[in-house]
Amino acid sequence: MAKAKGVRIIVTLECTECRSNPDKRSPGVSRYTSTKNRRNTTARLELKKFCTHCNKHTVHKEIK
Ligand SMILES: [Zn+2]
Repeated sequence: MAKAKGVRIIVTLECTECRSNPDKRSPGVSRYTSTKNRRNTTARLELKKFCTHCNKHTVHKEIK
């Protein structure tokens, strides 16, 4: 492993619409993993990703 000071950490992104939309085509929640720089990105990470459950691009938010 590289120098472990933990500036870049692995985060899990989860579809925000899967949680609020009951009419989606299949059950489950879309999840992606990514990394972020903790020093530059202190807030929760948000990315637009394709959700296979909603069948469209949605905002995926960092979860803990
Ligand atoms: Zn979704």
